[in-house]
Amino acid sequence: MELDGKVALVTGAGSGIGKATALLFAKQGARVGVLSRTEDEIRKTAEEIERSGGKAIPLVADVSREDQMKKAVEDLVQAYGRLDIVFANAGINGVWAPIDELKPEEWDRTVNINLRGTYLTIHYAVPHLKKAGGGSIIITASINGSRTFTSAGATAYSATKAAQVAMAQMLAVELAKHQIRVNVVCPGRIGTQIMENTSQRNTEEAEFPAEFPSGEIPLTGHEAGESEDVAELVLFLASKRAKHITGSPVWVDGGQSLIV
Ligand code: NAD
Repeated sequence: MELDGKVALVTGAGSGIGKATALLFAKQGARVGVLSRTEDEIRKTAEEIERSGGKAIPLVADVSREDQMKKAVEDLVQAYGRLDIVFANAGINGVWAPIDELKPEEWDRTVNINLRGTYLTIHYAVPHLKKAGGGSIIITASINGSRTFTSAGATAYSATKAAQVAMAQMLAVELAKHQIRVNVVCPGRIGTQIMENTSQRNTEEAEFPAEFPSGEIPLTGHEAGESEDVAELVLFLASKRAKHITGSPVWVDGGQSLIV
């Protein structure tokens, strides 16, 4: 029970990486506020945790909305009395398109959910982490924008992911005096629902015709990683075992970003 007595907030916990992490946190003794903007999805995550003997409350909020995020964090702290761990994970791929075709509203939506959402999550959580005498924040960025620049048309997405890495490093310094650690995980291709919510338009136009080695992921070949692979890393970063780690991006990609 690595997280016994701790309270965690996990955004984007309705599916994929966030859900796997929320389940793992709960299994390790944390009480978890599971957040997503889709009500039935997030209720299912909370029910699944409770059914297996854990503690969770569903929080319905859009991470890009100030009022909703403020209320979600308040509701969580009201229910469980404190906050120790924050996994700022909710995100979308959004629209991938050549820059001269990408519409301003499409750019804004990706930036608002991925970057403003991360800011709002941390902004409302930090006072409670300070009150708890410390804590751990983990952000989900990506190999895109940190090590790879080959997803044609994914400029808005990659820009938000690069910005999240910068944010983690800025905040690691700022919050160290409060014993709050801030780290960032950078997954490669993970089998989740994210591609179902991606729209790609004329991305060939944005592509550079390069040839990459045939095995896409050195460790697994064509197999994507699993959400649980990321969850294990997030648990480690949230736990006391990582007490001297802050401001660190960690790639969890089977070596994918080293060859593409
Ligand atoms: P997913 O689509 O399976 O899950 C995303 C979750 O976030 C869902 O619960 C969804 O409802 C929620 N969500 C989306 N927009 C939201 C909003 N505005 N407010 C609140 N909740 C919202 O995707 P995933 O692959 O698990 O993605 C999680 C994170 O991992 C994202 O930040 C993504 O950029 C990152 N990532 C994923 C991969 C991959 O290959 N799957 C690779 C690198 C990084």
